[in-house]
Order: sequence, then C-alpha cells, then structure tokens
Amino acid sequence: MTIDRRPDLSRMKGYHSAQVEVDVRLNTNESPEPPPPEFGAALARAVTEIDFNRYPDRSATALRAAIAADHNVRPDQVFVGNGSNEVLQCLLLAFGGPGRSVLVFEPTYALHTHIPEITGTKVLTETRNEDFTLDPATVGAAVAAADPTIVFLCSPNNPTGLIEDPAVLDAAAAASQGLVVVDEAYGQFSSWSAVDRVNDDDRIVVVRTFSKTWAMAGLRLGYAIAPSSVVEAMDAVVLPYHLDVVKQAAGVLAFDFRGAMEARVARICEQRGRIMAALTDLDVDVWPSQANFVLFRPRRVAGDVVWQRLVDNSILVRNCSSWPGLDGCLRVTVGTAEENGRFIDALKGALA
Ligand code: PMP
Repeated sequence: MTIDRRPDLSRMKGYHSAQVEVDVRLNTNESPEPPPPEFGAALARAVTEIDFNRYPDRSATALRAAIAADHNVRPDQVFVGNGSNEVLQCLLLAFGGPGRSVLVFEPTYALHTHIPEITGTKVLTETRNEDFTLDPATVGAAVAAADPTIVFLCSPNNPTGLIEDPAVLDAAAAASQGLVVVDEAYGQFSSWSAVDRVNDDDRIVVVRTFSKTWAMAGLRLGYAIAPSSVVEAMDAVVLPYHLDVVKQAAGVLAFDFRGAMEARVARICEQRGRIMAALTDLDVDVWPSQANFVLFRPRRVAGDVVWQRLVDNSILVRNCSSWPGLDGCLRVTVGTAEENGRFIDALKGALA
C-alpha cells in the first residue's frame, strides 16, 4: 500500500545526526554532565504528588511564571514547548505557511530551513561572510529586499559557534516588517543575549532550551521570550495539553539548581578554552566559539578522513564536511576534561 505524500515534501528526509557506537560522544552538543542528583531526588518526590488521572495545567502557569521570573519578563511573554524545535515549529505554524517566507543566513542551524519547508513556508537564503560573520548593512538590505515574515538569527550560531553582532539584530529589526527570531539554544555559554531586547512594542523573539546549559536534553523543554501578541498566536496553534505534568514539574524544579547549572557552564567554557588552545597549535583552521562546541577544518587531510580516524579511536564528532559552505569542517562538542583529552590526542594522530 502506498499513499502519495504531499508533493512539496515527497523527497524530504527527516533530520538525523549519524549515530555510531563509540566511547566518547561529542556530536550533538549535549551537556557532558547530568544535572545534580538532588534534582532527580526532588523530581522523584514531586512525582509522588501528581494526579496522573488529570490532564496537566494547559497553560503551564507555574512553569511560565518560573521562566518569566528568571528572565525578568511577564508570564504572558513566555511560550513553552517540548524542546526549542517545537517552539520553532509553533512559530512557523502561527506565522508561516503558503505565501509567506523566512530568511536564513547560511551556514546556520538546519532546522531553520527544515521546519519552514514542512509548514509550506518559502525559505530565502543569504550567505554569511567567509569568516561566518554578518555585516549589519548587508543584513538590513537583505531583510528589506526579501521582506520575509520571519528572519532567523542564531547566537551563538550552530555550527560555527560565533555570536551575532548586536548591530546585526538592530539592522534586521529596523528593516523587518515581520518577526526577527534569535535562536539562543547556546545563549548562556556566550557573552551576549538578545533577551533584554524583547518587549511588546518590538518584533524580536528569543528562543531558548533546557537541552544544553541546563543539561536536560532528555526532558525536551524549550521556550520563547516574545511579545505577548506573539505568545497568544502560538498558544492558538499548539496542541491542547502538549506539556505533560512531569515535564512541567521538572522545569519548575530546575530553577532551584541554577547555581549548579552556572558552575557546569563555567567548567564547559574553561574546557572550550582548552580545546581552542589545542586546536590553534594544530594544522587546522578554527573559529572562535562562544558555544559548547568548536568548529574546525583540517588543512591537509580531508574532513571525512579525519572524522573516520576519530571514529576508529571511538570518538564521534559531527561531520559537517559536506554541508553547504562548510567544506571539510568538523564540529566537536565540549565534553568532560577526560573526553576532551582523548579527543585532542586522537586528533593529533588523525592529522598526522
Ligand atoms: N536551536 C539550535 C541552534 C540548536 O542547535 C538546537 C539543538 N541542536 C535546537 C535549537 C533544538 O534544541 P531542543 O529541541 O533540544 O531544544
């Protein structure tokens, strides 16, 4: 039995990251450390109090309030989803669709193209400078010319690791008639955030996740800080009761362990410095990262070959070498001190 797929998606493949059985997994930008055991214990206690026979609080009141307090915004400026990918999907369901478009600056996060395509939204593409930065004037002109419903920025940008210049956000917002979405999945690893720029009179939306800095990729929890009218539009398209009761409890409890999160982020940033320093001494090009990963390009050995040699040493990094604009590039997630040591040693061998 075959049923024709939607013609516009008939050749689409899902989004996947190659998985290989290895000792050291540095390919999906997860936290190398779990949340503290006290978090698990507190969640276990909270779970015993739950009325599992009842639907969860549809508006996730406590969780929105906790996130709002953390960012000094109002709860009606917070939208919560099952991971930030679902938040992006709700943005596109509410604001994208046939006859509408998004503008992306490649290379950037693949889902900023993938989700618009799934929702029938046209994707307009501009290219970053050779060093992966963006110029405010060029961005302003591109936004004005394309007039998209959504402009995507990503800070720090996946997979390059660079933050966007605040002047680029200003230029995009000034030129845009639609929304400017800043994906800050890696926001707490960086020196700059656009969260302070969100207000009801502006067109800026910031998207964040618990998957990286909060070390809760398994929980699937992400959110947007947005003008209240945007949150209202997203609430209108999301499925009823989309956030289960355990997730809501876990998200609220997470904020009791903010100190542990900050200490973990500090350790990861220190290890990122160690990886950057090691790579600078090797025969690779490396880009200055403000995220929990580092993009690099071996100069004399093909990216594919280096990737395979690392796998042969039971180390998995992300092979970006065939992605547009990223010829020969690999992306390594910052792991534990021990994992990073193994990566650096194996890379030295792989480049020989
Ligand atoms: N945005 C960016 C830039 C990412 O790199 C990722 C994770 N790879 C996400 C969003 C999605 O994260 P999640 O759905 O786990 O919140």
